[in-house]
Amino acid sequence: MEIIEKAPAKLNLFLDTPFRHPDGAPEWKMIMTTIDLADYVKVMTVSNTKKIRVETDTGFLPQDQKNLAFQAAVRLQKKFRIDQGVQIRIRKNIPVAAGMGGGSTDAAAVLRILNQIWQLKLDLNQLAKIGLTIDSDVPFCIYSQTAAVTGKGEILEPLRQIPPVWIVLAKPKASVSTVNILKKIPYCKLQHGNFVQAKAALLNRNLPCLIGSMTNVLEQVTINELPQIAKLKQKMLDFGADAAQMTGSGPTVFGICSKLSRAQHVVNSLKDFCEQVYLVRPCHLNTNYLLTPKFEKYSQI
Ligand code: ATP
Repeated sequence: MEIIEKAPAKLNLFLDTPFRHPDGAPEWKMIMTTIDLADYVKVMTVSNTKKIRVETDTGFLPQDQKNLAFQAAVRLQKKFRIDQGVQIRIRKNIPVAAGMGGGSTDAAAVLRILNQIWQLKLDLNQLAKIGLTIDSDVPFCIYSQTAAVTGKGEILEPLRQIPPVWIVLAKPKASVSTVNILKKIPYCKLQHGNFVQAKAALLNRNLPCLIGSMTNVLEQVTINELPQIAKLKQKMLDFGADAAQMTGSGPTVFGICSKLSRAQHVVNSLKDFCEQVYLVRPCHLNTNYLLTPKFEKYSQI
């Protein structure tokens, strides 16, 4: 049996951290949304072996237990004592190590697929709980819809989809190590954003208020390593984006444009400065998981 799933990238509209837990993990205050730039993950079961294999079309991503998709399959295979092997094929469209959750979304797709193939009957909360043991972004990626994310990544509160906008992504060639950036967070110097206001802006679908409350406290940490991020951000604004910010630990910068013509101008102008430029839109993975009218918390693992 085989199933193919779309694994969309995420962007951090808001990223803040009030403190570090004793185990070193940051406590997060994030708002993430999903965009229509996605990997495609195909999972096939293989009989007569328990082996898990991963192939990607990149030629450089790990194909063993270092691949987060591989880890997702191992978690379910061990937990439910499944006697069947798995072949995973990933078509990568999301830039790697870019702050867009590429590995986490592939892992989340494998969890969703194997839940179906092996008829495990786990709900999304249970899948998110397993996903948290792989990476802090996996619980969000299980749902892949706009949400506030707190705790170590496990407390999800659904928000409304961001108002209709165009999003320009610019991924500089240089990459950064997330682990390295997280180690360097200067907790005593951080200028915290207004999380409550950012969430309210989304619940009210108020774009100017959302733009005014966008925050990423990791931006300055990564700019200290890669000053070109600050230049790229300024260029996005100079070329006409309504707002620009780095996503995750970077180095990708995204610009928000309310008009398509403006977004196209930003894309064309940036191409002289940055090799990887994309024009995308916000999207939700699956309408089955859309918000209830009361916007109740759907996940408190
Ligand atoms: P994070 O912020 O969680 O580190 P990211 O979104 O910045 O993630 P990813 O594309 O997930 O970046 O890549 C981070 C690291 O994860 C890379 O070093 C890559 O080798 C490794 N990795 C493991 N599995 C995958 C996968 N399926 N897709 C992309 N990267 C993967």
